[in-house]
Amino acid sequence: MVDAGVDVAVDGDERGLNRYERQIKIFGEEGQGRLRRAKVTIAGAGGLGSVSAAYLTVAGVGRIRVVDHDVVELSNLNRQILHWEKDIGREKAESFEEKLSQMNSEVEVAVMGQRISEDNVADVVKGSDLIVDAMDNFQTRYLLNRVALEKKIPLFHGGVYGFEGQVTTIIPGKTACLRCVFPEAPAPETFPVIGATCGVIGCIQATEVVKYIVGAGELLKNRLLVWDGLDARMEEFAVERNPACEDCGELR
Ligand SMILES: [Zn+2]
Repeated sequence: MVDAGVDVAVDGDERGLNRYERQIKIFGEEGQGRLRRAKVTIAGAGGLGSVSAAYLTVAGVGRIRVVDHDVVELSNLNRQILHWEKDIGREKAESFEEKLSQMNSEVEVAVMGQRISEDNVADVVKGSDLIVDAMDNFQTRYLLNRVALEKKIPLFHGGVYGFEGQVTTIIPGKTACLRCVFPEAPAPETFPVIGATCGVIGCIQATEVVKYIVGAGELLKNRLLVWDGLDARMEEFAVERNPACEDCGELR
């Protein structure tokens, strides 16, 4: 849960109360205040990132940092719904900044047009309350996992493939880390995917993030939720920390 801090929720701001009325009914002005004070890093401005960033923006998460080095291509548009035809050739980070600021001008959106590497990953997550893994490759995911463990920042993992997807919520030192769940990276490939799969998985990630920030419900801790769109089934697998995990084995 993100610290409640000292200032009161939406400071009695009528517009804020009105805008978030339907969700304040769930978690109160205090929860809304927590959202507003939250700082979230979204790693990846692609299909998953489009969905989680949009829902976290409309929910009123105060500060959102988006990190992506890529440029929008025509073949991205079947799933990366924050990028439109007019954005082809433009930096994805820049395209996100424009769309998210227009969705909710109260949200502070910052972008980093950089490829996440060993050298900059600490900067990428600096000052963040949590990280959304909206990446498309395990090499980068492992970097995020390691820095999340080191800095004790929760990591919200999501992945998609075709009609299938998976989600889990990693709380450093408490739950299985990404490396415990996936000890080895699958071979890199240009994988198939439909946009709606990113929608399902990105929405679950955004739901987990909101729950974590406001302190509601049960998180996907030590649980890997797997969506099989072709069969229209959701299955859950228990996962656990590997005491010999090369990334979190030593962590307390
Ligand atoms: Zn681990």
